[in-house]
Amino acid sequence: MARILIDNGRVIDPSQGVDRVTNLLVEDDKIAAWDVERTGDETVIDASGQIVAPGLIDMHVHLREPGSEEDETIQTGTAAAVAGGFTSIACMPNTVPPIDSQAAVEFIQHQAARANNCHVFVVACVSKDREGTDLAELGQLVQAGAVAFSDDGSPVHNAELMRQALEYCRMFDRPILNHAEVLELTRDGVMHEGIVSLVLGLPGIPAEAEDVMTSRDISLAEATGGKLHMMHVSTAGSVDLIRRAKKRGVRVTGEVCTHHFTLTDECLRTFNSHFKMKPPLRGQRHVDACIEGLVDGTLDAIVTDHAPHAAEKKLRELDQAPFGVIGLETALGLVVTHLIRPGHLDWPGALEKMTINPARILKINKGTLRVGADADITIIDPEQTWTVRQSDFRSKSINSPFTGQELIGRATCVIVGGDIKLRREMATA
Ligand SMILES: [Zn+2]
Ligand SMILES: [Zn+2]
Repeated sequence: MARILIDNGRVIDPSQGVDRVTNLLVEDDKIAAWDVERTGDETVIDASGQIVAPGLIDMHVHLREPGSEEDETIQTGTAAAVAGGFTSIACMPNTVPPIDSQAAVEFIQHQAARANNCHVFVVACVSKDREGTDLAELGQLVQAGAVAFSDDGSPVHNAELMRQALEYCRMFDRPILNHAEVLELTRDGVMHEGIVSLVLGLPGIPAEAEDVMTSRDISLAEATGGKLHMMHVSTAGSVDLIRRAKKRGVRVTGEVCTHHFTLTDECLRTFNSHFKMKPPLRGQRHVDACIEGLVDGTLDAIVTDHAPHAAEKKLRELDQAPFGVIGLETALGLVVTHLIRPGHLDWPGALEKMTINPARILKINKGTLRVGADADITIIDPEQTWTVRQSDFRSKSINSPFTGQELIGRATCVIVGGDIKLRREMATA
């Protein structure tokens, strides 16, 4: 039996409300015990001064395979996830072809097993071929292992289809994850509509393009009783709508991307396409509202919306370059630097949004260090200062808006199903 003893770390497990220094024993692929002594026959990982957390989960990742392997593959994307401290990710179905069939779900599962880096949970399409007209075979997709449904990359534009999806999904108790964007309001916008877009003379995407659909989706969730999850929430209006809906008991959850609580539309003054994504970077008022939403629990999960694009695509003029940025390898450092250090969230509060909350939304058996749970563990050096460098990315793409930035906090050890997938030096004190 393979035994790993994680010694003397600050073990934080929000699923059990635990935060204390102790030892954790892994046997084979499970958490075997807490508070144990060394017996001498185990591999010891000294976690003194470090945080021992349930393996991090990113519920919003684009792996690009099949169809856009020049941007990312399941192999490189999951390697990037592990490098960032993630042990589980959920991948979006806007591939070519899209993940709207059992065979497509099985293909992802097969490639993820071959890559053998981290767990990959499949989000399948809401609509057939992602065309937004007919519902995909949701029941069959659930049978194949799909954990949720989304037409991400595009909104579920048709309100009747969204209503049907929410209603139908109640049967499986699976959420619909929607990308809220009223396309008639976005038109050819490339950045947030505001003073900066006006000054730069760039077509804008108004905050209402998101707010209007968030409001529609909440109404439909309320009417149907279906489970709704709002993706990449980026506006003060959406945060407020979700907050009020939750108070009424609507089954809605929300996520925020790491770039939306750290950057504003001011970044577009560089005309650098690494600041171009959807929804766009907003003004400071919206950033503050997203942080407030995280603090008061309106927003449940922190995600990356990891969206790799090959360098030659992102090198095009700003209006031609595709939307999206990578995020798996910078997420943890951004959370520590921008949420924990300034005192917006404490460690348990931040980890909850990267472990048990996304696990609960997707109803996956992850995000906990309970005895008997899968041995998915992330050990974090909370003090390590490091610089984001393109040459260090395991992702196939380098379209990060954070290159060159100094961040605090990094995963030093990542254990997936009892296997040590990453060991990184701890900063010397
Ligand atoms: Zn999206
Ligand atoms: Zn996305």
